Amino acid sequence: MNMTSGTLRAGVVALMTVATVPAMAQGHAHVHGQAQLEVVLDGAELQLTLTSPLDSIVGFEHKPRTAAQRQAAERALRTLVDPPQLFLVPAAAGCTLQDQAIEAPVLQPEAANTKPHDHAGEHADLEATWRFRCTAPDRLDRLPLKLFDRFATMKRLEVRVAGPAGQGRQLLRRGAPAEVQFRR
Ligand SMILES: [Zn+2]
Repeated sequence: MNMTSGTLRAGVVALMTVATVPAMAQGHAHVHGQAQLEVVLDGAELQLTLTSPLDSIVGFEHKPRTAAQRQAAERALRTLVDPPQLFLVPAAAGCTLQDQAIEAPVLQPEAANTKPHDHAGEHADLEATWRFRCTAPDRLDRLPLKLFDRFATMKRLEVRVAGPAGQGRQLLRRGAPAEVQFRR
C-alpha cells in the first residue's frame, strides 16, 4: 500500500512539473538525457536553437580526458556545424543556412588551453543556434529531426514551436518518430 501511494504521489508531482514548464522555459532546466529545441518561423526566417546539458550530447560534462572522449567531442562539434546532419528541412521550402553559433566551451579546444583546470562535478551546457532563410516558408509544414540518431545519450527533447499559426509545444522521445509539426 505504501508503494502504491508513493507511486500516486510521484504521478501528481510529474503532472505539476509538466504544467510549470512554460513558466520555466526561459530557465532551461538542466536534466541529463533531456534537451530543448526552439523552432521559430518568422516570415522567411527559420531559427533553430538547441539548449542541452552536454551529458545529453556527448555523455560527459568535463573537458575530454580520454581519446574516446576527445573523439566524441570532435564528432559532436563536426555534427553541430553541419545542420543537415540534425535537421531534415524539406527541400520544397528552399531554406539556406545564413549563420550559426555553437557554444560549448568545454568541448571546444580553444577553451581547453585558457582554463588551467577542469572544475570536477560542475555541470555544463551546450547552446547552438542556426538561422535559415527560406524562399517558400509556406511549404515548411514539418521538420524531421535526426538529433536522437546523432546524440546517443539524448532521451527526450522538448520542442517549442512558434510560427504563423501560433505557438505549440511537443515532447519527443527516443524511439518514436522525431518530427516537428508546424500548425497551419
Ligand atoms: Zn549536468
